[in-house]
Amino acid sequence: MIEATAGVLSDQTLVLNKSWAAIATTSVREALSMLFAGTARAVEPETYQIHGFDSWASLAVEAGEPCVRTVSLELRVPEVIVLARFNGKPRPRAAFSRRNLFRRDHNRCQYCGQRPGTSELTIDHVHPRSRGGASSWENCVLACVPCNRRKANRTPSEARMSLLSPPREPEWTPIMEVPVGRVRQAWRAFVSDAYWNAELQP
Ligand SMILES: [Zn+2]
Repeated sequence: MIEATAGVLSDQTLVLNKSWAAIATTSVREALSMLFAGTARAVEPETYQIHGFDSWASLAVEAGEPCVRTVSLELRVPEVIVLARFNGKPRPRAAFSRRNLFRRDHNRCQYCGQRPGTSELTIDHVHPRSRGGASSWENCVLACVPCNRRKANRTPSEARMSLLSPPREPEWTPIMEVPVGRVRQAWRAFVSDAYWNAELQP
């Protein structure tokens, strides 16, 4: 019988491979069962100490801290786990989605560089869709309403507008799989990229 602070078991845990690179997220429930089975160890976010199940279970749960309870144990929530064995799985690729495009472009118009707020930003097809332009990482950028209107059904060179940088597929990062506002601070040390800025200043 397992009890937990509300919602905790379906929260996300960051999964690191043996070389401590972030490769996935999983549910707290699954992370605990991996910890129990010995296929992963929990990482203490402040000290980076790693713990097997027994040593993790021996850590005290602070008052008010979310936790998971069994009949005999009170467990801290593992926010980060590291796989015990080599995992050859390549990093996932970044899903091409509206939300991830906003993250990649940091809510910034890729023509004029302004950040007018998400409701004032549109997705522009660099090579216009009506002329065969693909919906892809390499052909889509954020554009503010005035820039999008000005560019209209033209390429940037036809419109004499330039992009801040050539659009590319971003590297996968675990926060792409987590709803805004559900990213744990403890992950920060393991996810080194500029997406944090977009994430933390919506
Ligand atoms: Zn603009």
